Amino acid sequence: MKHKIIFATKNYGKLKEVCHILGEKEIELLSLNDFNNVAEIVEDGNTFEENAVKKAKYVFEKYSIPVLADDSGLVVEQLNGEPGIYSARYAGENATDEENNKKLISRLLSLPQPHKAKFVCSAVYFDGKNMMKAEGEIVGQIIHEQHGKNGFGYDPLFMPDGYNQTTAELNFDEKNKISHRAKAFNSLLKLIKERG
Ligand code: IMP
Repeated sequence: MKHKIIFATKNYGKLKEVCHILGEKEIELLSLNDFNNVAEIVEDGNTFEENAVKKAKYVFEKYSIPVLADDSGLVVEQLNGEPGIYSARYAGENATDEENNKKLISRLLSLPQPHKAKFVCSAVYFDGKNMMKAEGEIVGQIIHEQHGKNGFGYDPLFMPDGYNQTTAELNFDEKNKISHRAKAFNSLLKLIKERG
């Protein structure tokens, strides 16, 4: 029988990536889209990890099924780490990716290039007893024009070091070999397997 795990997200972009990264045939990965009336989980932690832990605890308490959760975002050096934990709502509550990207470009236009940045992902697993944690990063720079249609969020503006394409131009498999989320979830999977 497959082990059920809930991935505490409604974001289809993230869900698709994590399904692919886990690639586990023994796991049935559910998401918050599989449940009705899930309240918005307030992400009021001070770090990516605090937010991921909060989501995992909340979802486990509600459904009593082991949970994977993550919190991730873009950290831009010249903006003192912004948008950071506010990445999803940089241009305001319910902002679209397009609005967030426009705000980011407008904040950077007057600053010298390169605009060094990294994506960070904190991933956690909680089964009611054990809380396991892992983090992953990918470093690169923000460019001034959007390129590419793949991925989500800030992908059209993020060019990883060593590449001349944005993460929105890389194909799905390529992004998921090098991404912050791949690194975090692969490390987490290793920890879970070590624990048995
Ligand atoms: P979260 O759902 O609170 O983790 O917010 C993640 C937000 O950070 C997303 O809405 C994106 O704006 C940004 N983000 C995180 N990971 C990525 C990525 O892989 N590509 C592009 N943007 C990302």
